[in-house]
Amino acid sequence: MSLIVQKFGGTSVRDAERVMNVARIVTDTFSKGNDVVVVVSAQGDTTDDLIAKADEINPNASKREKDMLLAAGEQISISLLAMAIEKLGYHATSLLGWQAGFQTSSAHTSARIRRIDPSRIKVALDRHNIVVVAGFQGASKYGDITTLGRGGSDTSAVAIAAAMHADLCQIYTDVEGVYTADPRKVENARKLKEISYDEMLELATLGAQVLNNRSVEMAKKYNIELEVLSSLTHAPGTIVKEKPKMEKMLISGVAKDTDVARISVISVPNIPGIAFKMFSRLSAKGINVDIILQSIGHDGKKDISFTVARPRVHEAVEALEEYMMSHGAKEIVYDDKVAKISIVGAGMESHAGVATKMFEALYDAQINIQMISTSEIKVSVLIDEAEADKAVKAIHDKFFD
Ligand code: ADP
Ligand code: ASP
Ligand code: MG
Repeated sequence: MSLIVQKFGGTSVRDAERVMNVARIVTDTFSKGNDVVVVVSAQGDTTDDLIAKADEINPNASKREKDMLLAAGEQISISLLAMAIEKLGYHATSLLGWQAGFQTSSAHTSARIRRIDPSRIKVALDRHNIVVVAGFQGASKYGDITTLGRGGSDTSAVAIAAAMHADLCQIYTDVEGVYTADPRKVENARKLKEISYDEMLELATLGAQVLNNRSVEMAKKYNIELEVLSSLTHAPGTIVKEKPKMEKMLISGVAKDTDVARISVISVPNIPGIAFKMFSRLSAKGINVDIILQSIGHDGKKDISFTVARPRVHEAVEALEEYMMSHGAKEIVYDDKVAKISIVGAGMESHAGVATKMFEALYDAQINIQMISTSEIKVSVLIDEAEADKAVKAIHDKFFD
């Protein structure tokens, strides 16, 4: 007998019909003699709707109360799915995050899983129940409800698979697997048979929302093979693992991230310590900086540009304004209508000219590059947000047509 963890995202449980569809998938797996733990997200746009409700009353509500509200979305879907399973003649037990043993840090709205005590899940499985667990949530050591950050149900599923040494962890979603680009935006995107943890982690971090990046990090750490597949078709999905059989491809995908903004500090003194002082002001506020570009100085001055997460751009500018201006900077400007487009591929390490090919695609499409950053297996460029989809298509065509 195998233990199988199956996770279903919001669109897969959108309405009664889809919930019944999921119930059929999990009971099918159960009836083949497997133990099944199911992790579900909130239905459809429930989480967004709950956030909107909170903002209507108090946009500055405490994160503890936000978590209390957001966790309700998953409570609805676990109970409905358990009812659907009962309707098909099987036994089901739904469990909230804390009941399923998820102990997390107390960083509300972006808590980290510290430990899982699966004893209650095990008792239910021993009684031949299909166990339905609320994704995206847990409880802190103070007993407060926490959530794991948007898209966190993927991480819940992988964490259970790791804690219980599951034989298989399947992430069911609304596309048939991981593609070379978002298949909803790029119609000739190709489905990948397999992809490595490292490449998937880069793609997820750089904007491919099909898997949450923390879930991939955790899968790599505990060597949990993931299968990403559709809850609506029976097509084979994509396997995410340590050593995939490599298809002959220079890159494995193109990703887009619009959750970024660029800040430029113009004409700062070209002396030692400026970058340190500037960025320490941001890190003191917990603001992460991503791509950094510094101009070669002239006339004793230089410009420093960098990107931050878009929701934090105003805070970042505020944190720098007074200090930088009183230390000789001319001005601070920002642009929150930019996008980061990235290519990811392990093949890059051994092939020259991959970045050039990307730049050529952008040149052909007459798209201007504002900033560039590279690592062993990725190249990212910052461009105007209005051109983001066009850029992804142009780059994808260059590499895959
Ligand atoms: P779920 O609700 O199942 O968690 P998500 O909406 O979080 O689903 O993720 C699935 C979506 O990810 C797809 O509908 C697709 O538009 C998007 N996506 C972005 N990049 C990719 C990619 N490279 N491969 C597959 N899907 C992608
Ligand atoms: N419902 C949560 C969200 O919308 C968690 C998830 O879907 O993974 O972010
Ligand atoms: Mg998701």
